[in-house]
Amino acid sequence: MNDKFDAVVVGGGPCGSFSAFTMAKQGMNVIVCEEHKKIGVPTHCAGHLSLSGLKRLSLHLPSNVVENEFKGAVLHSPRGKEFSVRFNSPVTCVVNRELFDKYLSNLAVKAGVQYLFGSRVESLVVDSGFAKGVAIRRGGTKEALASSLVVDAEGCSSVLLKKAGLQTLDCSMIVNAVQAEVDRADDVNTNAVEVYLGQKYAPGFFAWIIPKRDMSAKVGLATNMGNPREYLHRFMQKHPVASKKLRKSKITRLSFHPISLGGAIPKTYSNGLLIVGDAASQVKPTTGGGVIFGLICSRLAGKVAYEALQNHDFSEAFLSHYQSRWKERIGFDLAAMRQIRKLLNHLSDDKIDKIIDLCARLGIDSVLEEVGDLDFQGASLIRMIRRPSTLVLTLYSIFSALTTSIWK
Ligand SMILES: Cc1cc2nc3c(=O)[nH]c(=O)nc-3n(C[C@H](O)[C@H](O)[C@H](O)COP(=O)(O)OP(=O)(O)OC[C@H]3O[C@@H](n4cnc5c(N)ncnc54)[C@H](O)[C@@H]3O)c2cc1C
Repeated sequence: MNDKFDAVVVGGGPCGSFSAFTMAKQGMNVIVCEEHKKIGVPTHCAGHLSLSGLKRLSLHLPSNVVENEFKGAVLHSPRGKEFSVRFNSPVTCVVNRELFDKYLSNLAVKAGVQYLFGSRVESLVVDSGFAKGVAIRRGGTKEALASSLVVDAEGCSSVLLKKAGLQTLDCSMIVNAVQAEVDRADDVNTNAVEVYLGQKYAPGFFAWIIPKRDMSAKVGLATNMGNPREYLHRFMQKHPVASKKLRKSKITRLSFHPISLGGAIPKTYSNGLLIVGDAASQVKPTTGGGVIFGLICSRLAGKVAYEALQNHDFSEAFLSHYQSRWKERIGFDLAAMRQIRKLLNHLSDDKIDKIIDLCARLGIDSVLEEVGDLDFQGASLIRMIRRPSTLVLTLYSIFSALTTSIWK
């Protein structure tokens, strides 16, 4: 393949396809290299997305992609207390990740993007300090693709970051996740996702049950220590609440994958190179959700790429506009969520129990219903702490985290 492309995108996940789509829609000549033979497999993600996030991105998903919609969530404290948030209409959905990824890649193909499957990008082609394409391995042979720009959308195990001399993910904030598809879950409300907190079952994160309409479910957790597979078995077999719902469940699919909770890497561009999605750690540190933020940033990357083409300028000085734009859009929320994650990691199970109890007693559910935004949690927090009840809760949480870490 000897053509020169305007952009080579590395990785055909949601962020790769969406940045490619945005560039091609503006007339750019784009190719996506995907190491697997097809889009969307293997899948590792629960696919729980906010409806407002999808709307912001103007994504209207076909009905077969959406497995269920939810009006709220139930939070289970480590010692068995419950806190529910319910809305009048659906606020989130769970998507089939394989079909979701295919939907995005079809948009890209319709806009003129080419896909090269079974092609693993091994390194950047660098000329005079600029990324000028990629070196790929395909079916046992090596070849190079020339381009004006490379977009790195490899996900959280990016090999190109290091090769470009950029800072990689913060290893101390990576958790190991496991996700199971189960054939049935009993006694679950199909209108709500369930979240389970506690050091015994998911240290450093949480476990979840996401029911589908047909009563099958996605069950998973992440942990900052030990073996996630063992924690999953313990959760499904021993958790006082969850085990009753899952005792007849058979696991039909199991996957393992890391999640980066450290907030975005410090620099997401260099000469001829932009980094998007999990590769840039554009992931919510509170929940590990990376799809909506990743897509927001991928769209911004696609727009800046087009402007760079118009200006014949792929220097890092020009491409730095990408970073200023995504920072303006999600920078505050990512930084705030990173602090919340650190605070949560410092809280003992007893303290988390008391906080959840306090949430219920202070009526935080109604504050959340009024001013909460599932994606922009930093901005939501600012709106919430203007309410006296939430201010009390926030101060209590910060005090608890400080005293726990002081006495530990
Ligand atoms: C267990 C689990 C549950 C999750 N649940 C949610 C959730 O409910 N909601 C949510 O919003 N987020 C969730 N996430 C996070 C979400 O999966 C990611 O944020 C999202 O997939 C990031 O998309 P991406 O395109 O950046 O990367 P990926 O989806 O990882 O895609 C990267 C693509 O690049 C390809 N690739 C990698 N390296 C190369 C290479 N060198 N050459 C060619 N191709 C390459 C890969 O094969 C892959 O197709 C979850 C993550 C995990 C682990």
